[in-house]
Parts: sequence; C-alpha cells; structure tokens
Amino acid sequence: MANFDFDLFVIGGGSGGVRAARMAAQRGARVALAEERGTEGLGGTCVNVGCIPKKLYSYAAHFAEGFEESHGFGWTGAAPRFDWQLLKANRRREIRRLNGVYQNLLTGAGVTVMNDRARLTGPNSLMVGPQEWHARCILIATGGQPFAPDIPGVQHAVVSDAMFDMDPFPQRLLVVGGGYIACEFASIFRGLGSTVTQLYRGEQVLRGFDDDVRQFIAAEMRKKGIDLHLRADVAGITRTAGGLAVDVHAPGPKSAPVVVDAVLFATGRVPRVQGLGLEAAGVAQRGDGAIVVNAHYQTSVPSIYALGDVTSRVQLTPVALGEAMVVVDRLFPPPAGKSPRSMSYDYIPTAVFTHPNVGTVGFSETDARARFGKVTVFRSEFKALKHTLSGSSERTLMKLVVDDATDRVVGLHMVGPDAGEVVQGFAVAMKAGATKAVFDSTIGIHPTAAEEFVTMREPAIRSGG
Ligand code: FAD
Ligand code: NDP
Repeated sequence: MANFDFDLFVIGGGSGGVRAARMAAQRGARVALAEERGTEGLGGTCVNVGCIPKKLYSYAAHFAEGFEESHGFGWTGAAPRFDWQLLKANRRREIRRLNGVYQNLLTGAGVTVMNDRARLTGPNSLMVGPQEWHARCILIATGGQPFAPDIPGVQHAVVSDAMFDMDPFPQRLLVVGGGYIACEFASIFRGLGSTVTQLYRGEQVLRGFDDDVRQFIAAEMRKKGIDLHLRADVAGITRTAGGLAVDVHAPGPKSAPVVVDAVLFATGRVPRVQGLGLEAAGVAQRGDGAIVVNAHYQTSVPSIYALGDVTSRVQLTPVALGEAMVVVDRLFPPPAGKSPRSMSYDYIPTAVFTHPNVGTVGFSETDARARFGKVTVFRSEFKALKHTLSGSSERTLMKLVVDDATDRVVGLHMVGPDAGEVVQGFAVAMKAGATKAVFDSTIGIHPTAAEEFVTMREPAIRSGG
C-alpha cells in the first residue's frame, strides 16, 4: 500500500471543491485543497464573480424601479442618486467576508488549504507550487472560464469577470449573447442606469427555455429599455475618441457602428483545464476540453474524479454541490443507517435573474411534446396586483405543461417578480411527481402571484403528439 500524504486532494476551492473537501474531512479523511487564487479565491466563481455579486447588483438595480413605482403608493420626492463606487466597495467587503467564512469552514473541518495552483503529475500525484504531494484520490473541481469569440478588436471587450469592478461606470453598454449572463447583465446594468444594447445571434434569447418564456422575457426586457437585436452579431470593435465603435452584422441594410463605453461578451463558458496536467495523468477529455466522467464522477483514471463546471454538464452551483456530496459518499461512506446520496439531473429548477426574473423547472412545452406526446398547457398572463398602482407596465407569465397520460405536471415556468423563489417551492412538488389534480386541490395563498399556479383551470392548448 502506497504511503499517501492525503486520502483526498481537491483541486479548486469553488462551490464543488469546498463542499467535497469539507464533507470528506468531517468524515475523518485526511484532505487537502489547492486554490490558485488563494484565500481571495475561496468560494470560486459563484462567490467571487458569479451568483453572489451578480445577485447583489441585481438587488441594487431593482431599487431604480422601486423608487419610480413608489410614487403610485404615495411616496413623493426625487429618487436618490446612485453611487457605483459605494456599491462596488460594499460588494467587495461582503465577498471578502464570505471568503473568510469559506476559509474557516475548511480549516475548521481539518482541511489543509494550499494557496497555489495545482498540476497533476500522475494518477496519485500532483504539484502545488514547487512541492509534490501524493493522494489516494484526487478531485478536479477547477470550474470554467468565460469564452469570447476571436473577432477583430475583441481585446477591447470584457467578459463577465470584469463587469463587477468596471471603472468608470459604463454609461453605454453593448452586451453580446442571449444566454443567462447576457440577459442578466443587460437587465442589471439597464437598471443601474446604463443605456444597454444587446445583440443575440439566434432567433430568440435564452435558447433551451420554453418558447413562450423566451418571447415574454424578451418583450419585458425591451419594455425596461434594453435595445435587443436578434439575428445580430459583432463583426469587429475599434477604439475611437468617442468610445468603442462596434460593427454589427444584422439583417437589413448595413447600419453605422454602435458607439459604446464597454462591450461585454457573454458568449458562454469553457472548462478551466489549461496547465492542469490532464495529459500527464492520462485523464480523457471531450473535444471542448471538458473532463469525461462516469456516473460516479470518476474520470478515465480510476483514482481521479471530477465534478462541476469542468465537466461542462449543468453549470449551476447547486448542481456542483450535489455532485460533491455524491462523490464524498462514494469515497468515504456515510455512517451506518444513512444511505449514500445520489444525483438526478431531472427537474433541476433554475432562475435567470433578469428584470423581471425567469424561473423554470421541468420540460418546455416543445420538449414535453417530444417526450410525452400528448400534453395540455395551462397559461396565464396578467398584471401583478402591485402594478395596478405602481404605474409599471410589467406583466407576469405563468405556465404549466401537463402530461395527458399521467396527469403529471412536467413543466412549470414563470416570468415575474421573484420567479426563482416561487419556482423553488414548486420544484419539490414536481420532483415528487405532483399531478395537475394535486395542484388543483392545493389551496392558494391570496393575494400572491404564485397562487395562479394552483388556480389555472382552463387549458390554453391541447396538442397531439
Ligand atoms: P468554480 O466555482 O468555478 O471553482 C473553481 C475554482 O478552481 C476557482 O476558484 C479557480 O480559481 C480554481 N482553480 C482553477 N484551476 C485551478 C488549479 N489548477 N489549481 C488550483 N485552483 C484552481 N449558478 C447558479 O446556480 N446561480 C446563479 O445565479 C449563477 N450565476 C452566475 C453568474 C455568473 C456571472 C457566472 C459566471 C456563473 C454563475 N453561475 C450561477 C454558475 C456557477 O457560478 C458555477 O456553476 C459554479 O461556480 C461551478 O462551481 P465549480 O465548483 O464547478 O467551479
Ligand atoms: P450560455 O450558454 O447561457 O449562453 C451563451 C450565449 O452566447 C448563447 O446565447 C450563445 O448563443 C451565445 N454564443 C456562444 N458563442 C457565441 C459566438 N461565438 N458568437 C456569438 N454568440 C455566441 O452561457 P453564459 O455565458 O451566459 O453562462 C454560462 C453558464 O453559467 C450558463 O449556461 C449557466 O449554466 C451558468 N449561469 C447561471 C446563472 C443562473 O443560474 N442564474 C447565471 C449565469 C450563468 P446560442 O444560443 O446561439 O448558442
């Protein structure tokens, strides 16, 4: 039996890595974790340049609407002035606090934390800085990084990591992409006061989401003032005295370049694998660089595991956390009487923090038809009670997709305030296999928007498969 320094060595201190390291150490394993960005990187993408700062900025942006809408409720006077430097400083302070919380969670559990980049040298060995270590198992949780297409002038553009500390505040922002990050950042910076143009190369934003939801959120984003162009892409960027001049490819006659202060490429993320020594260790990768894993998150090298964004499956923090717990249960079985956890990729709820939010769980109408054949759709579109006085023209969409054969609700979609909060609750019912009859027999909470999900009785469309 080889003499290992550790039972488990985790590469990457993000969502998945920290959870796995902490839980394994709590089970009594000897665990180390390397994070290349040091203590200030702990928490990974989510804490430092993802979910958390993004949501804080989304809250900031929502206040703009709140001040305007308050007039209809009797509040008078001018809206307060927005201080971008103050928001950035407060965000930084909170993120530093969270980095410290993660550090304490790890050291408190007995994890040896190394503040350096790790590189595999073999199935059970790796270098961290100048030092080589040996571990019985290695877990790769190095996440992903933003991708920007190689177009002329791309060096003048930024990716999402840079948006949190922009200086000065971008008064005129061009966002390229139609996915989560593009739609969220377009909404946030519009709310904070930027003039926002968004270009998406496809037919409608948020490809993969329910088509009704896509149309609806695009219309709502336009109502908020986002100048959204579909079938449009960037041909090149030039720095000029007036700002960044962006050449746009779009249907119709060629128009003059759009001049902005900043261009954000939100055009997807790729696995973070460069310099990781995957070849040296013999770890198989897909064409896009993602690490290939089996159902137990084991790579082609049996002692090496991988999870989270570096495997490029479902790039969400709760998914990385769920995967980490499954890996730990497999490597260091839970105490007698507790069954090892498993991970299901069905009915993963998700939200896009646009203004208003999108929340969704289960199948889109199109995917449900393809999968189940006959489905019934229930759809409701309305002005939320709050907006009867607020003066806002914002509308809410709620939609259920029901499998006719089983009466099971297989898709639940919402565009509206706090859609993420609403859908998280319903996701439990969906996982449990709730039927439309169960939804119908559930008493609503009045007056809420969410009650609409249990009071929709008239089908919108009945379709054959
Ligand atoms: P990460 O969190 O990326 O962690 C990987 C860590 O590994 C990093 O800290 C990195 O520095 C470190 N590392 C990399 N290489 C090495 C090496 N060789 N040696 C040592 N350390 C290394 N998800 C949601 O669920 N909800 C959201 O609202 C949401 N918003 C997002 C907003 C943005 C702008 C972005 C970019 C992402 C968002 N995500 C969101 C996705 C979420 O952040 C990721 O899915 C999640 O962080 C993945 O976790 P992970 O552990 O796989 O990797
Ligand atoms: P997405 O995959 O969501 O979107 C990428 C967008 O960029 C798509 O609209 C895609 O178009 C477009 N695109 C890709 N390549 C090009 C190109 N060469 N030229 C022009 N456009 C291009 O990725 P994001 O970067 O927005 O986010 C990455 C992941 O992070 C998300 O998938 C999600 O899992 C996670 N995330 C989650 C959030 C949340 O939970 N709220 C928030 C932010 C991120 P097309 O559709 O045509 O391929």
